Amino acid sequence: MKFTRRPWAEPYKIKVVEPLKVTTREYREKCIREAGYNTFLLRSEDVYIDLLTDSGTNAMSDYQWAGMMLGDEAYAGSKNFYYLESNVQKYYGYKYLVPTHQGRGAEHLLSQALIKPGQYVPGNMYFTTTRLHQELAGGTFVDVIIDEAHDSQSNHPFKGNVDLQKFEDLIKKVGADKVAYITVGATVNMAGGQPVSMANIKEVYALANKHGIKVVLDATRAMENAYFIQQREEGYKDKPIAEILKEFCSYSDCATMSGKKDLLVNIGGFVAVNDWDLFEELRNMVVVYEGLHTYGGLAGRDMEAMSRGMEEAIQDDYMASRIKQVHYLGELLDEYNIPMVKPFGGHAIFLDAKRFYEHIPQEQYPAQALAADLYVDSGVRGMERGIVSAGRNKETGEEYKPKLELVRLTIPRRVYTQAHLDVVAYSVAELYEHRKSAKGLKMVYEPRYLRFFQARFEKLA
Ligand SMILES: *Cc1c(COP(=O)(O)O)cnc(C)c1O
Repeated sequence: MKFTRRPWAEPYKIKVVEPLKVTTREYREKCIREAGYNTFLLRSEDVYIDLLTDSGTNAMSDYQWAGMMLGDEAYAGSKNFYYLESNVQKYYGYKYLVPTHQGRGAEHLLSQALIKPGQYVPGNMYFTTTRLHQELAGGTFVDVIIDEAHDSQSNHPFKGNVDLQKFEDLIKKVGADKVAYITVGATVNMAGGQPVSMANIKEVYALANKHGIKVVLDATRAMENAYFIQQREEGYKDKPIAEILKEFCSYSDCATMSGKKDLLVNIGGFVAVNDWDLFEELRNMVVVYEGLHTYGGLAGRDMEAMSRGMEEAIQDDYMASRIKQVHYLGELLDEYNIPMVKPFGGHAIFLDAKRFYEHIPQEQYPAQALAADLYVDSGVRGMERGIVSAGRNKETGEEYKPKLELVRLTIPRRVYTQAHLDVVAYSVAELYEHRKSAKGLKMVYEPRYLRFFQARFEKLA
């Protein structure tokens, strides 16, 4: 037998393909220079394997595409809305649904509805759009994630957990009435797709309840989180992901959602709540910012695709293959001793640029440089998650210097094969071998908001 373990394969097969352009190194050098060494500014057609993000890059199934033809594009009361509402109730368990065009639309509405200027908003590590909407509503984000999350070498199985002591200390310091709510993201994107345990969210909910503070779940990746609970937490190994997800959500008051991740669609999101008064408020606001409350900026067909994606994503076989594909890439890179965030998370492999390019100081953006170098080497597009993404303190104007300086290689759902991932691993290993000759970057243009999307750089000599 040449196998060391029984191989697994995806529980689906390919029905439609999209040809990719194969480019030369010289061509890619020109492309990245023109893009200001920012992978966000590359044209997609110049990318061979696109691991920029798993957001909206999902491949839909025949069942979802068939559903697209059943779009009820009525302005009001679309039947696709009612189907989505019943699926959100069925799988997530919240009572009321307000659809939005994507996750940040949901974050905008909820932040405006719940935050009074001057209040604090604790959360288990920031997410870019989440924190910005909290700040725009007059709130101040406070990180209450456990310390292990900031340590790329910690093997904690639930590195996304909230540190209850940090949360309680904040309540004591500022008073419960100064805490707008607590956000629990699961899995935690910025920590490397790290999960939150059932025990932890249960304790967070109990502590928050005691002080009359709401728990807002960022449910964007909560199905992937449920898989980790099934695999790692005592008492859940025989429970289906669907059951775990519902229990998890029951320890929160409401949720914001980007359907572009877990739900296997290209666009869509929602906010779901249990409280009628809050629902009323959100329903009033959605017509101003997104669209009528039965479409929230989405076409009927998009809501249908999201409902159907929900039904597919919750299947245990699908979710196991999703996470195992991500871990396949991680295990390959491990064979080359590449520095990475461990344990591997749900949606991406994170290269530890601080240890990868040890000689490049953080002020010269080592992760941004590594992402650019990877593109030049093989046409693989990743994304910086480090000092550029962290931005500046809005009071002092100083750059935040996050402990984690990472390049994210994000795996789109149902899109690439194992052979694509072999190409990625080989290219990363080559760069690692020649790492000593790599150069840092200097920022030559900096946008005011979410600078990582549009900032431009030049290579240092
Ligand atoms: C993507 C994402 C969001 C924002 O959603 P968009 O659909 O991109 O607006 C919020 N939270 C998390 C954890 C995400 O991954």
